[in-house]
Amino acid sequence: MQIQEKAHRILQQSVCDNCLGRQFAQLLSGLTNRERGKLLRTLIAMSMDKEHYEGDIELSNFHGFQFHKFESKDKLEKKRCVICEGMFDNLDKLAEKIAKVAKKYEFSTFLVGTKLSFELISREENLWERVGIDYCEPLKAELNRELGKVVEKKVKARYHSRPDINFVISLPEGTVDVQINPIFIYGEYQKLVRGIPQTRWPSKKYKTSIEEIMAVPFMKVTRGASHKLHGLGREDIDARCLGWRPFVLEILEPRSRTLNLKSLSKKIGKGIRVRNLRLSNIEEVRRIKEERADKTYRALVLCEGISRKDLQKLRALVGEIKQKTPERVVHRRADKFRHRKLKSLKTKYVSSKKFTIEVRCEAGLYVKELVSGDNGRTTPSASSILQQPCICKELDVTAIHNLKAKK
Ligand SMILES: [Zn+2]
Repeated sequence: MQIQEKAHRILQQSVCDNCLGRQFAQLLSGLTNRERGKLLRTLIAMSMDKEHYEGDIELSNFHGFQFHKFESKDKLEKKRCVICEGMFDNLDKLAEKIAKVAKKYEFSTFLVGTKLSFELISREENLWERVGIDYCEPLKAELNRELGKVVEKKVKARYHSRPDINFVISLPEGTVDVQINPIFIYGEYQKLVRGIPQTRWPSKKYKTSIEEIMAVPFMKVTRGASHKLHGLGREDIDARCLGWRPFVLEILEPRSRTLNLKSLSKKIGKGIRVRNLRLSNIEEVRRIKEERADKTYRALVLCEGISRKDLQKLRALVGEIKQKTPERVVHRRADKFRHRKLKSLKTKYVSSKKFTIEVRCEAGLYVKELVSGDNGRTTPSASSILQQPCICKELDVTAIHNLKAKK
């Protein structure tokens, strides 16, 4: 269909400049739909052969609505746009409704979304059936954008595709819903005590977690609804983490977003320390979850009896370790073989029944089993090399080698 013919067809009904222009949104960039519509209406009116069209097309549709301003109110009502019902002349009122709701929240960026009634959607679809969808933009897209511009002038915040808050207005009735987006805080933690899980434990077996200890000051300041901790891996509950482990703390539905990260980092409870706090985002959560960083562990090992010289033999552990899912976790993880590299190893003699071993290895190597051998499920192991049962008495993560992390 030619552009002119399409415009003619649209104008067989009373349609506002926005709704007219929107059907040609992909043509003539740099104009608003309203400007585009006005231009088309003028061009069509100028080129129109009055006699030719008067019979089947109402001329007033081509001249715009100002044409009717001097007529009775009743008539003006009838001439409202049959697609949007004059919503684009009403944006200020709708924006005012949003601004009123917005006062209850703290945010510096926002987005506006619309939920259109079935009638609004089907009127637009009926038009598309008549004139096609070449060059068009959906009503919803224009409303979101144009409403966003007006709201931006009423609230002290920027319209932004990655907003702090979303306002969703249902049209035509104008009720406003609010979605508060989470705050993400990147940091690195140390866990200086044993016996605390990283995240909330489903049963009441553990009273607290790193997540809960860490979240307390943040929840107080943000008045958030809840929180989540995303760690770059996790240490065993009974292991300390003396190396700095990257994490992102997510605060859901925060009421306030003003954070003094430096002072907050000092308010975190006993046993947990954090550093390098900064604001983050969901992409960083994904990155952290996917990152396979090398770790260095130090284990205190108990055995039956060794000499200093025996410890030298443990160098044979450097290389590939073949590991079946440990017995202690096999009930919740798939039972399978894995190969992980052990990259370096240091040992320290403490007594004939005690030594420490420090290993750097690929992510996913189970160090307790590297020591014990896990009844032959891990090979080689300290037990297999020393030919006696060895057990890991204490375990610490001493370094997390995440080279890709941004500082
Ligand atoms: Zn309209």
